[in-house]
Amino acid sequence: APGAHVPALVIGTGYGGSVAALRLARAGVDVHMVEMGMAWDTPGPDGKIFANTTRPDHRSFWLRTRTKQPLSNFLGFPLDKDVPRYTGILDAEEFGGITVYQGRGVGGGSLVNGGMAVTPRRENFPAVLPTVDPAEMYDVYYPRANAGLEVADVDQGWWESAACYQYARVGRKHAERSGFPFVFVPNVYDWDYMEQEAAGAVPASALDGEVLFGNNHGKKSLQKTYLARAVATGRVAVSPLHRVTSVAPAPGGGYRVLVERLDTTGAVTATTAVTADRVFFAAGSVGTSKLLTRLKATGVLPALNDETGKGWGDNGNVMCGRANHMWDATGSLQSAMPTAGIDNWAAGGVFAEVAPLPTGIETYASFYLSITRNPHRAAFSWNAAAGRVDLDWQTVWKQPSIAAARTVFDKINTKEGTIYRTDLFGSCKIWGDHLTYHPLGGAVLDRATDNHGRLHGYRGLYVIDGALIPGNASVNPFVTITALAERNIEEIIAKDL
Ligand code: FAD
Repeated sequence: APGAHVPALVIGTGYGGSVAALRLARAGVDVHMVEMGMAWDTPGPDGKIFANTTRPDHRSFWLRTRTKQPLSNFLGFPLDKDVPRYTGILDAEEFGGITVYQGRGVGGGSLVNGGMAVTPRRENFPAVLPTVDPAEMYDVYYPRANAGLEVADVDQGWWESAACYQYARVGRKHAERSGFPFVFVPNVYDWDYMEQEAAGAVPASALDGEVLFGNNHGKKSLQKTYLARAVATGRVAVSPLHRVTSVAPAPGGGYRVLVERLDTTGAVTATTAVTADRVFFAAGSVGTSKLLTRLKATGVLPALNDETGKGWGDNGNVMCGRANHMWDATGSLQSAMPTAGIDNWAAGGVFAEVAPLPTGIETYASFYLSITRNPHRAAFSWNAAAGRVDLDWQTVWKQPSIAAARTVFDKINTKEGTIYRTDLFGSCKIWGDHLTYHPLGGAVLDRATDNHGRLHGYRGLYVIDGALIPGNASVNPFVTITALAERNIEEIIAKDL
Protein backbone atom coordinates (compact mmCIF):
# COMPACT_ATOMS: atom_id res chain seq x y z
CA ALA A 1 0.00 0.00 0.00
CA PRO A 2 1.19 3.59 -0.59
CA GLY A 3 3.07 4.99 2.37
CA ALA A 4 3.68 1.48 3.67
CA HIS A 5 6.64 0.73 5.92
CA VAL A 6 8.50 -2.60 5.89
CA PRO A 7 11.46 -3.75 7.99
CA ALA A 8 13.18 -5.45 5.05
CA LEU A 9 12.60 -5.06 1.32
CA VAL A 10 14.21 -7.52 -1.09
CA ILE A 11 14.56 -6.53 -4.76
CA GLY A 12 14.27 -9.71 -6.85
CA THR A 13 13.31 -13.33 -6.12
CA GLY A 14 16.30 -15.29 -7.50
CA TYR A 15 18.84 -17.22 -5.43
CA GLY A 16 20.23 -14.32 -3.40
CA GLY A 17 16.81 -12.83 -2.71
CA SER A 18 15.26 -16.16 -1.72
CA VAL A 19 18.03 -16.94 0.78
CA ALA A 20 17.75 -13.45 2.29
CA ALA A 21 13.97 -13.69 2.61
CA LEU A 22 13.98 -17.13 4.24
CA ARG A 23 16.72 -16.36 6.76
CA LEU A 24 15.36 -12.91 7.69
CA ALA A 25 11.85 -14.31 8.13
CA ARG A 26 13.10 -17.15 10.31
CA ALA A 27 14.92 -14.53 12.40
CA GLY A 28 11.56 -12.83 12.98
CA VAL A 29 11.83 -10.04 10.40
CA ASP A 30 8.90 -9.24 8.09
CA VAL A 31 10.05 -9.20 4.47
CA HIS A 32 8.56 -7.71 1.31
CA MET A 33 9.93 -9.17 -1.94
CA VAL A 34 9.47 -7.10 -5.09
CA GLU A 35 9.76 -9.01 -8.40
CA MET A 36 9.37 -7.45 -11.83
CA GLY A 37 8.48 -10.74 -13.54
CA MET A 38 5.29 -12.75 -13.25
CA ALA A 39 4.25 -15.21 -10.53
CA TRP A 40 4.21 -18.21 -12.92
CA ASP A 41 1.53 -20.00 -10.92
CA THR A 42 -1.35 -19.97 -13.43
CA PRO A 43 -1.78 -22.22 -16.49
CA GLY A 44 -1.92 -20.61 -19.92
CA PRO A 45 -4.36 -21.35 -22.77
CA ASP A 46 -2.79 -24.81 -23.33
CA GLY A 47 -3.33 -25.81 -19.70
CA LYS A 48 0.37 -25.52 -18.90
CA ILE A 49 2.16 -22.82 -16.96
CA PHE A 50 5.29 -22.82 -19.12
CA ALA A 51 5.84 -22.98 -22.89
CA ASN A 52 7.91 -25.74 -24.47
CA THR A 53 11.48 -24.99 -25.56
CA THR A 54 10.70 -26.03 -29.13
CA ARG A 55 7.42 -24.08 -29.34
CA PRO A 56 8.03 -20.54 -28.02
CA ASP A 57 4.98 -18.32 -27.59
CA HIS A 58 4.05 -15.09 -25.77
CA ARG A 59 5.17 -16.63 -22.44
CA SER A 60 8.71 -17.27 -23.62
CA PHE A 61 10.43 -13.89 -23.82
CA TRP A 62 10.52 -10.75 -21.70
CA LEU A 63 8.98 -7.85 -23.63
CA ARG A 64 10.08 -8.77 -27.15
CA THR A 65 8.06 -8.93 -30.36
CA ARG A 66 10.41 -11.48 -31.86
CA THR A 67 12.08 -14.42 -30.15
CA LYS A 68 15.85 -14.36 -29.68
CA GLN A 69 16.85 -18.01 -29.40
CA PRO A 70 20.34 -18.73 -28.01
CA LEU A 71 20.77 -21.17 -30.92
CA SER A 72 19.60 -18.91 -33.69
CA ASN A 73 19.76 -21.42 -36.56
CA PHE A 74 19.41 -25.09 -37.22
CA LEU A 75 20.48 -26.88 -40.42
CA GLY A 76 20.65 -23.48 -42.10
CA PHE A 77 17.17 -22.34 -41.06
CA PRO A 78 16.73 -19.32 -38.80
CA LEU A 79 14.59 -20.32 -35.80
CA ASP A 80 13.32 -16.96 -34.56
CA LYS A 81 9.70 -15.93 -35.03
CA ASP A 82 7.31 -13.15 -34.09
CA VAL A 83 5.54 -13.35 -30.73
CA PRO A 84 3.18 -10.97 -28.90
CA ARG A 85 4.97 -8.61 -26.53
CA TYR A 86 4.47 -9.99 -23.03
CA THR A 87 6.19 -10.16 -19.64
CA GLY A 88 7.57 -13.59 -20.55
CA ILE A 89 10.03 -15.72 -18.65
CA LEU A 90 13.37 -15.34 -20.47
CA ASP A 91 15.04 -11.98 -20.94
CA ALA A 92 17.56 -11.74 -23.77
CA GLU A 93 19.00 -8.41 -22.64
CA GLU A 94 21.14 -6.84 -25.34
CA PHE A 95 24.21 -4.75 -24.58
CA GLY A 96 26.73 -3.50 -27.15
CA GLY A 97 28.90 -6.60 -27.26
CA ILE A 98 26.86 -9.32 -25.57
CA THR A 99 23.35 -10.65 -25.04
CA VAL A 100 22.75 -11.60 -21.40
CA TYR A 101 20.05 -14.25 -20.84
CA GLN A 102 18.21 -14.03 -17.50
CA GLY A 103 15.10 -15.47 -15.88
CA ARG A 104 12.16 -13.17 -15.14
CA GLY A 105 9.57 -14.10 -12.56
CA VAL A 106 9.16 -15.36 -9.03
CA GLY A 107 12.20 -17.64 -8.74
CA GLY A 108 14.49 -15.63 -11.04
CA GLY A 109 16.99 -17.70 -12.98
CA SER A 110 15.85 -20.92 -11.29
CA LEU A 111 12.80 -20.83 -13.59
CA VAL A 112 14.78 -21.11 -16.82
CA ASN A 113 18.11 -22.70 -15.98
CA GLY A 114 19.41 -26.22 -16.51
CA GLY A 115 19.41 -27.00 -12.80
CA MET A 116 23.11 -27.94 -12.86
CA ALA A 117 24.14 -27.55 -9.24
CA VAL A 118 27.92 -27.49 -9.20
CA THR A 119 30.16 -26.74 -6.24
CA PRO A 120 33.54 -25.47 -7.49
CA ARG A 121 36.59 -27.61 -6.81
CA ARG A 122 38.09 -26.37 -3.58
CA GLU A 123 41.47 -25.63 -5.12
CA ASN A 124 39.77 -23.25 -7.56
CA PHE A 125 37.81 -21.35 -4.89
CA PRO A 126 40.48 -18.78 -3.88
CA ALA A 127 40.42 -17.40 -7.43
CA VAL A 128 36.60 -17.23 -7.40
CA LEU A 129 36.14 -15.30 -4.12
CA PRO A 130 39.61 -14.29 -2.90
CA THR A 131 38.43 -12.62 0.32
CA VAL A 132 36.23 -15.47 1.55
CA ASP A 133 37.56 -18.18 3.88
CA PRO A 134 37.32 -21.49 1.95
CA ALA A 135 37.00 -23.48 5.18
CA GLU A 136 33.74 -21.79 6.23
CA MET A 137 32.35 -22.16 2.72
CA TYR A 138 33.18 -25.84 2.28
CA ASP A 139 32.38 -26.84 5.88
CA VAL A 140 29.20 -24.83 6.38
CA TYR A 141 27.74 -22.75 3.56
CA TYR A 142 28.14 -24.98 0.49
CA PRO A 143 26.57 -27.90 2.39
CA ARG A 144 23.78 -25.59 3.62
CA ALA A 145 23.13 -24.30 0.09
CA ASN A 146 23.11 -27.78 -1.43
CA ALA A 147 20.65 -28.96 1.21
CA GLY A 148 18.42 -25.90 0.82
CA LEU A 149 18.35 -26.25 -2.96
CA GLU A 150 17.66 -30.01 -2.67
CA VAL A 151 20.57 -30.87 -4.92
CA ALA A 152 20.82 -34.57 -5.81
CA ASP A 153 22.90 -36.94 -7.92
CA VAL A 154 21.47 -38.93 -10.79
CA ASP A 155 21.38 -42.71 -10.23
CA GLN A 156 24.32 -43.75 -12.37
CA GLY A 157 22.96 -47.24 -12.88
CA TRP A 158 19.81 -45.81 -14.42
CA TRP A 159 21.77 -43.19 -16.36
CA GLU A 160 23.94 -45.85 -18.03
CA SER A 161 20.98 -47.32 -19.86
CA ALA A 162 18.52 -44.39 -20.12
CA ALA A 163 17.80 -43.49 -23.75
CA CYS A 164 17.51 -39.81 -22.79
CA TYR A 165 21.17 -39.70 -21.72
CA GLN A 166 22.67 -41.31 -24.79
CA TYR A 167 23.97 -37.85 -25.74
CA ALA A 168 25.80 -37.64 -22.41
CA ARG A 169 27.29 -41.13 -22.78
CA VAL A 170 28.58 -40.17 -26.22
CA GLY A 171 30.03 -37.05 -24.60
CA ARG A 172 31.75 -39.23 -22.00
CA LYS A 173 33.14 -41.62 -24.58
CA HIS A 174 34.63 -38.81 -26.63
CA ALA A 175 36.06 -37.02 -23.57
CA GLU A 176 37.68 -40.15 -22.18
CA ARG A 177 39.09 -41.32 -25.51
CA SER A 178 40.94 -37.98 -25.68
CA GLY A 179 42.12 -38.25 -22.08
CA PHE A 180 39.94 -35.57 -20.48
CA PRO A 181 38.40 -35.99 -17.01
CA PHE A 182 34.64 -36.63 -17.30
CA VAL A 183 32.63 -35.71 -14.22
CA PHE A 184 29.03 -36.23 -13.18
CA VAL A 185 27.38 -33.09 -11.86
CA PRO A 186 24.39 -32.93 -9.49
CA ASN A 187 21.12 -31.24 -10.40
CA VAL A 188 18.01 -29.92 -8.66
CA TYR A 189 15.74 -32.06 -10.86
CA ASP A 190 13.60 -34.70 -9.12
CA TRP A 191 15.31 -37.83 -10.45
CA ASP A 192 12.46 -40.12 -9.38
CA TYR A 193 10.14 -38.01 -11.49
CA MET A 194 12.48 -38.29 -14.47
CA GLU A 195 12.66 -42.06 -14.16
CA GLN A 196 8.87 -42.12 -14.21
CA GLU A 197 8.89 -39.84 -17.27
CA ALA A 198 11.18 -42.31 -19.01
CA ALA A 199 8.82 -45.13 -18.05
CA GLY A 200 5.85 -43.20 -19.48
CA ALA A 201 4.09 -43.09 -16.09
CA VAL A 202 3.82 -39.30 -15.68
CA PRO A 203 3.63 -36.27 -18.00
CA ALA A 204 6.97 -35.71 -19.73
CA SER A 205 8.79 -32.57 -18.67
CA ALA A 206 12.61 -32.69 -18.88
CA LEU A 207 12.05 -35.49 -21.39
CA ASP A 208 9.80 -33.16 -23.40
CA GLY A 209 12.61 -30.62 -23.64
CA GLU A 210 11.21 -28.27 -20.99
CA VAL A 211 13.96 -25.98 -19.71
CA LEU A 212 14.59 -22.60 -21.32
CA PHE A 213 11.03 -21.26 -21.00
CA GLY A 214 10.26 -23.03 -17.72
CA ASN A 215 9.71 -26.58 -16.57
CA ASN A 216 6.17 -27.76 -15.74
CA HIS A 217 6.97 -30.72 -13.45
CA GLY A 218 10.22 -32.17 -12.16
CA LYS A 219 12.60 -29.26 -11.68
CA LYS A 220 12.85 -27.96 -8.13
CA SER A 221 13.00 -24.27 -8.89
CA LEU A 222 13.19 -21.83 -5.96
CA GLN A 223 9.39 -21.69 -5.84
CA LYS A 224 9.49 -25.30 -4.60
CA THR A 225 12.42 -24.91 -2.17
CA TYR A 226 13.67 -21.69 -0.56
CA LEU A 227 10.71 -19.54 -1.57
CA ALA A 228 8.14 -22.10 -0.45
CA ARG A 229 9.80 -22.22 2.98
CA ALA A 230 10.07 -18.44 3.13
CA VAL A 231 6.37 -17.94 2.38
CA ALA A 232 5.46 -20.69 4.88
CA THR A 233 6.89 -18.56 7.70
CA GLY A 234 3.96 -16.17 7.24
CA ARG A 235 6.40 -13.25 7.30
CA VAL A 236 7.17 -12.95 3.58
CA ALA A 237 5.02 -11.14 1.03
CA VAL A 238 5.87 -11.33 -2.68
CA SER A 239 4.75 -8.72 -5.23
CA PRO A 240 5.15 -10.02 -8.80
CA LEU A 241 4.95 -7.64 -11.77
CA HIS A 242 6.44 -4.86 -9.63
CA ARG A 243 9.73 -3.22 -10.53
CA VAL A 244 11.95 -1.18 -8.21
CA THR A 245 13.21 2.01 -9.86
CA SER A 246 14.71 3.96 -6.96
CA VAL A 247 16.13 3.51 -3.47
CA ALA A 248 16.87 6.81 -1.70
CA PRO A 249 17.66 7.71 1.92
CA ALA A 250 14.40 8.67 3.67
CA PRO A 251 14.30 11.84 5.79
CA GLY A 252 13.26 9.98 8.94
CA GLY A 253 15.77 7.14 8.47
CA GLY A 254 15.62 4.03 6.34
CA TYR A 255 15.04 4.17 2.59
CA ARG A 256 12.28 5.32 0.30
CA VAL A 257 11.81 2.69 -2.43
CA LEU A 258 9.90 3.56 -5.60
CA VAL A 259 8.03 0.65 -7.13
CA GLU A 260 6.31 0.53 -10.52
CA ARG A 261 3.42 -1.83 -11.11
CA LEU A 262 3.51 -3.43 -14.58
CA ASP A 263 0.82 -5.01 -16.72
CA THR A 264 1.64 -7.99 -18.94
CA THR A 265 2.50 -5.73 -21.89
CA GLY A 266 5.17 -4.11 -19.73
CA ALA A 267 3.26 -0.84 -19.36
CA VAL A 268 3.51 0.96 -16.01
CA THR A 269 0.05 1.15 -14.44
CA ALA A 270 0.95 2.73 -11.09
CA THR A 271 3.92 3.92 -9.03
CA THR A 272 4.06 3.58 -5.25
CA ALA A 273 6.58 4.44 -2.55
CA VAL A 274 7.46 2.10 0.29
CA THR A 275 9.73 2.92 3.22
CA ALA A 276 12.12 0.16 4.27
CA ASP A 277 14.59 -0.02 7.16
CA ARG A 278 16.81 -2.30 5.12
CA VAL A 279 17.01 -2.96 1.39
CA PHE A 280 18.60 -6.07 -0.15
CA PHE A 281 19.64 -5.74 -3.80
CA ALA A 282 19.00 -9.20 -5.28
CA ALA A 283 18.02 -8.19 -8.81
CA GLY A 284 20.76 -10.38 -10.31
CA SER A 285 24.22 -9.29 -11.47
CA VAL A 286 22.83 -7.11 -14.25
CA GLY A 287 19.72 -5.86 -12.42
CA THR A 288 21.57 -4.90 -9.26
CA SER A 289 24.48 -3.34 -11.17
CA LYS A 290 22.16 -1.29 -13.38
CA LEU A 291 20.21 0.04 -10.41
CA LEU A 292 23.30 0.94 -8.35
CA THR A 293 25.15 2.50 -11.30
CA ARG A 294 22.19 4.74 -12.15
CA LEU A 295 21.41 5.68 -8.54
CA LYS A 296 25.05 6.67 -7.93
CA ALA A 297 25.44 8.61 -11.20
CA THR A 298 22.15 10.51 -10.84
CA GLY A 299 22.92 11.63 -7.29
CA VAL A 300 20.33 9.47 -5.52
CA LEU A 301 23.01 7.37 -3.77
CA PRO A 302 26.13 9.52 -4.40
CA ALA A 303 28.20 7.95 -1.60
CA LEU A 304 28.38 4.53 -3.28
CA ASN A 305 32.07 4.01 -4.06
CA ASP A 306 33.84 3.93 -7.41
CA GLU A 307 33.76 0.12 -7.55
CA THR A 308 30.03 0.34 -8.29
CA GLY A 309 29.28 -1.26 -11.67
CA LYS A 310 32.76 -2.72 -12.06
CA GLY A 311 34.21 -6.23 -12.18
CA TRP A 312 31.54 -7.74 -14.42
CA GLY A 313 32.27 -10.97 -16.31
CA ASP A 314 30.45 -13.56 -18.41
CA ASN A 315 31.77 -16.64 -16.53
CA GLY A 316 33.69 -17.31 -19.75
CA ASN A 317 30.61 -18.78 -21.44
CA VAL A 318 31.02 -20.03 -25.00
CA MET A 319 29.00 -22.64 -26.88
CA CYS A 320 29.81 -25.03 -29.68
CA GLY A 321 28.55 -28.17 -31.36
CA ARG A 322 30.38 -31.12 -32.92
CA ALA A 323 29.14 -33.20 -35.84
CA ASN A 324 29.42 -36.89 -34.98
CA HIS A 325 29.68 -39.89 -37.25
CA MET A 326 26.51 -41.91 -37.78
CA TRP A 327 27.71 -44.56 -35.32
CA ASP A 328 27.70 -41.91 -32.58
CA ALA A 329 24.04 -40.96 -32.65
CA THR A 330 23.14 -38.71 -29.70
CA GLY A 331 19.47 -39.72 -29.58
CA SER A 332 16.18 -38.16 -30.64
CA LEU A 333 15.07 -38.17 -26.99
CA GLN A 334 17.33 -35.97 -24.85
CA SER A 335 16.72 -34.99 -21.24
CA ALA A 336 16.84 -31.21 -20.95
CA MET A 337 18.69 -31.53 -17.62
CA PRO A 338 22.47 -31.89 -18.04
CA THR A 339 24.26 -34.41 -15.83
CA ALA A 340 27.87 -34.19 -16.85
CA GLY A 341 30.88 -32.11 -17.74
CA ILE A 342 34.42 -32.30 -19.08
CA ASP A 343 36.72 -30.84 -16.45
CA ASN A 344 39.87 -29.49 -18.08
CA TRP A 345 40.09 -26.44 -15.80
CA ALA A 346 43.52 -27.21 -14.42
CA ALA A 347 45.18 -27.80 -17.79
CA GLY A 348 43.16 -25.62 -20.15
CA GLY A 349 40.91 -23.30 -18.10
CA VAL A 350 37.70 -24.91 -19.31
CA PHE A 351 34.82 -26.76 -17.68
CA ALA A 352 32.52 -27.90 -20.49
CA GLU A 353 28.96 -28.92 -19.77
CA VAL A 354 27.78 -31.76 -22.00
CA ALA A 355 24.54 -30.06 -22.97
CA PRO A 356 21.33 -31.40 -24.50
CA LEU A 357 20.04 -30.39 -27.91
CA PRO A 358 16.44 -31.42 -27.36
CA THR A 359 15.06 -31.00 -30.86
CA GLY A 360 13.05 -34.25 -30.92
CA ILE A 361 15.01 -35.60 -33.90
CA GLU A 362 18.36 -37.33 -34.29
CA THR A 363 20.94 -34.62 -34.99
CA TYR A 364 24.23 -36.57 -34.62
CA ALA A 365 25.40 -33.44 -32.80
CA SER A 366 27.25 -33.14 -29.52
CA PHE A 367 26.56 -29.78 -27.92
CA TYR A 368 28.57 -28.05 -25.19
CA LEU A 369 28.36 -24.96 -23.00
CA SER A 370 31.90 -24.19 -21.86
CA ILE A 371 32.75 -22.19 -18.77
CA THR A 372 36.24 -20.81 -19.24
CA ARG A 373 38.87 -18.81 -17.42
CA ASN A 374 38.41 -15.52 -19.25
CA PRO A 375 40.37 -12.57 -17.79
CA HIS A 376 38.25 -9.76 -19.27
CA ARG A 377 36.07 -7.67 -16.95
CA ALA A 378 33.54 -5.07 -18.08
CA ALA A 379 32.00 -2.04 -16.36
CA PHE A 380 28.51 -0.57 -16.34
CA SER A 381 28.15 3.18 -16.85
CA TRP A 382 25.29 5.66 -16.88
CA ASN A 383 24.49 6.98 -20.36
CA ALA A 384 22.71 10.21 -19.45
CA ALA A 385 21.88 11.16 -23.05
CA ALA A 386 20.12 7.87 -23.72
CA GLY A 387 18.77 7.52 -20.17
CA ARG A 388 20.09 3.99 -19.75
CA VAL A 389 22.95 1.98 -18.29
CA ASP A 390 25.52 0.65 -20.78
CA LEU A 391 27.99 -2.22 -20.45
CA ASP A 392 31.38 -1.96 -22.21
CA TRP A 393 31.88 -5.70 -22.94
CA GLN A 394 33.36 -6.33 -26.41
CA THR A 395 32.63 -9.42 -28.50
CA VAL A 396 36.37 -9.93 -29.19
CA TRP A 397 36.84 -10.46 -25.45
CA LYS A 398 35.45 -13.97 -26.02
CA GLN A 399 38.66 -14.98 -27.82
CA PRO A 400 40.36 -16.35 -24.67
CA SER A 401 37.23 -18.45 -24.07
CA ILE A 402 37.29 -19.85 -27.58
CA ALA A 403 41.00 -20.65 -27.19
CA ALA A 404 40.29 -22.45 -23.90
CA ALA A 405 37.39 -24.43 -25.37
CA ARG A 406 39.57 -25.43 -28.32
CA THR A 407 42.04 -27.10 -25.95
CA VAL A 408 39.30 -29.71 -25.48
CA PHE A 409 37.29 -29.82 -28.69
CA ASP A 410 40.09 -29.54 -31.27
CA LYS A 411 41.66 -32.55 -29.61
CA ILE A 412 38.41 -34.52 -29.53
CA ASN A 413 37.72 -33.69 -33.18
CA THR A 414 41.20 -34.85 -34.17
CA LYS A 415 40.84 -38.06 -32.20
CA GLU A 416 37.35 -38.82 -33.52
CA GLY A 417 37.89 -37.55 -37.05
CA THR A 418 34.98 -35.13 -36.63
CA ILE A 419 34.37 -31.42 -37.25
CA TYR A 420 32.58 -28.54 -35.55
CA ARG A 421 28.95 -27.81 -36.41
CA THR A 422 28.71 -24.53 -38.30
CA ASP A 423 24.91 -24.24 -38.51
CA LEU A 424 23.82 -23.52 -34.93
CA PHE A 425 24.66 -19.85 -34.44
CA GLY A 426 24.23 -18.54 -37.99
CA SER A 427 25.66 -19.87 -41.20
CA CYS A 428 29.29 -20.99 -41.16
CA LYS A 429 29.69 -19.96 -37.52
CA ILE A 430 31.29 -22.37 -35.08
CA TRP A 431 31.26 -20.47 -31.79
CA GLY A 432 28.31 -19.17 -29.83
CA ASP A 433 30.32 -16.19 -28.57
CA HIS A 434 27.58 -13.56 -28.54
CA LEU A 435 25.94 -14.45 -25.23
CA THR A 436 26.17 -15.43 -21.62
CA TYR A 437 23.84 -17.37 -19.32
CA HIS A 438 26.02 -16.59 -16.30
CA PRO A 439 26.37 -12.85 -15.64
CA LEU A 440 28.49 -12.26 -12.52
CA GLY A 441 29.83 -9.17 -10.76
CA GLY A 442 29.13 -5.44 -10.95
CA ALA A 443 29.00 -4.92 -7.17
CA VAL A 444 31.93 -7.06 -6.13
CA LEU A 445 32.37 -8.38 -2.59
CA ASP A 446 34.89 -6.48 -0.49
CA ARG A 447 35.12 -3.77 -3.17
CA ALA A 448 31.71 -2.13 -3.81
CA THR A 449 30.58 -3.72 -0.53
CA ASP A 450 32.32 -4.87 2.62
CA ASN A 451 33.27 -8.54 2.94
CA HIS A 452 29.64 -9.48 3.73
CA GLY A 453 27.75 -7.49 1.11
CA ARG A 454 27.08 -4.26 3.05
CA LEU A 455 27.21 -1.44 0.50
CA HIS A 456 29.80 1.18 1.36
CA GLY A 457 28.35 4.59 2.14
CA TYR A 458 24.87 3.50 3.29
CA ARG A 459 23.99 1.64 6.46
CA GLY A 460 21.15 -0.81 5.79
CA LEU A 461 21.78 -1.34 2.05
CA TYR A 462 23.07 -4.76 1.00
CA VAL A 463 23.94 -6.67 -2.17
CA ILE A 464 23.19 -10.40 -1.91
CA ASP A 465 23.20 -11.88 -5.43
CA GLY A 466 25.50 -12.78 -8.31
CA ALA A 467 26.70 -9.15 -8.52
CA LEU A 468 29.04 -9.95 -5.60
CA ILE A 469 31.06 -12.56 -7.52
CA PRO A 470 33.86 -11.00 -9.56
CA GLY A 471 33.10 -12.33 -13.03
CA ASN A 472 33.89 -16.03 -12.87
CA ALA A 473 32.87 -19.01 -10.75
CA SER A 474 34.88 -21.77 -12.58
CA VAL A 475 31.63 -23.78 -12.85
CA ASN A 476 27.90 -23.02 -13.21
CA PRO A 477 27.23 -20.32 -10.62
CA PHE A 478 23.97 -20.75 -8.69
CA VAL A 479 25.28 -22.97 -5.89
CA THR A 480 28.03 -20.44 -5.20
CA ILE A 481 25.57 -17.52 -5.31
CA THR A 482 23.34 -19.39 -2.83
CA ALA A 483 26.20 -20.38 -0.51
CA LEU A 484 27.64 -16.86 -0.44
CA ALA A 485 24.18 -15.47 0.34
CA GLU A 486 23.84 -17.98 3.20
CA ARG A 487 27.20 -16.86 4.57
CA ASN A 488 26.46 -13.16 4.31
CA ILE A 489 22.92 -13.19 5.67
CA GLU A 490 24.05 -15.12 8.75
CA GLU A 491 26.56 -12.40 9.55
CA ILE A 492 24.06 -9.62 8.80
CA ILE A 493 21.39 -11.18 11.03
CA ALA A 494 23.90 -11.67 13.85
CA LYS A 495 25.48 -8.21 13.73
CA ASP A 496 23.06 -5.75 12.14
CA LEU A 497 19.57 -6.61 13.37
P1 FAD B 1 18.49 -13.98 -10.57
O1 FAD B 1 18.22 -15.40 -10.39
O2 FAD B 1 18.75 -13.47 -11.95
O3 FAD B 1 17.25 -13.20 -9.94
C1 FAD B 1 17.09 -11.80 -10.05
C2 FAD B 1 15.62 -11.47 -10.06
O4 FAD B 1 15.45 -10.06 -9.87
C3 FAD B 1 14.91 -11.81 -11.38
O5 FAD B 1 13.77 -12.59 -11.12
C4 FAD B 1 14.55 -10.44 -11.97
O6 FAD B 1 13.35 -10.46 -12.72
C5 FAD B 1 14.42 -9.59 -10.73
N1 FAD B 1 14.67 -8.14 -10.96
C6 FAD B 1 15.67 -7.59 -11.69
N2 FAD B 1 15.59 -6.23 -11.64
C7 FAD B 1 14.52 -5.93 -10.85
C8 FAD B 1 13.94 -4.70 -10.42
N3 FAD B 1 14.45 -3.52 -10.77
N4 FAD B 1 12.82 -4.77 -9.65
C9 FAD B 1 12.30 -5.97 -9.28
N5 FAD B 1 12.82 -7.17 -9.66
C10 FAD B 1 13.92 -7.14 -10.43
N6 FAD B 1 23.38 -21.64 -13.30
C11 FAD B 1 23.76 -22.82 -12.74
O7 FAD B 1 24.39 -22.84 -11.68
N7 FAD B 1 23.42 -24.01 -13.34
C12 FAD B 1 22.72 -24.05 -14.53
O8 FAD B 1 22.41 -25.15 -15.02
C13 FAD B 1 22.36 -22.82 -15.14
N8 FAD B 1 21.72 -22.81 -16.34
C14 FAD B 1 21.29 -21.61 -16.84
C15 FAD B 1 20.55 -21.60 -18.02
C16 FAD B 1 20.02 -20.41 -18.51
C17 FAD B 1 19.23 -20.40 -19.79
C18 FAD B 1 20.24 -19.19 -17.79
C19 FAD B 1 19.67 -17.89 -18.28
C20 FAD B 1 20.98 -19.20 -16.63
C21 FAD B 1 21.51 -20.39 -16.15
N9 FAD B 1 22.25 -20.43 -14.97
C22 FAD B 1 22.68 -21.61 -14.45
C23 FAD B 1 22.60 -19.18 -14.24
C24 FAD B 1 21.74 -18.95 -12.99
O9 FAD B 1 20.38 -19.13 -13.28
C25 FAD B 1 22.03 -17.53 -12.45
O10 FAD B 1 23.41 -17.46 -12.17
C26 FAD B 1 21.24 -17.20 -11.21
O11 FAD B 1 19.85 -17.27 -11.45
C27 FAD B 1 21.58 -15.83 -10.67
O12 FAD B 1 21.00 -15.69 -9.39
P2 FAD B 1 20.77 -14.26 -8.74
O13 FAD B 1 20.19 -14.47 -7.38
O14 FAD B 1 22.03 -13.47 -8.84
O15 FAD B 1 19.73 -13.49 -9.68
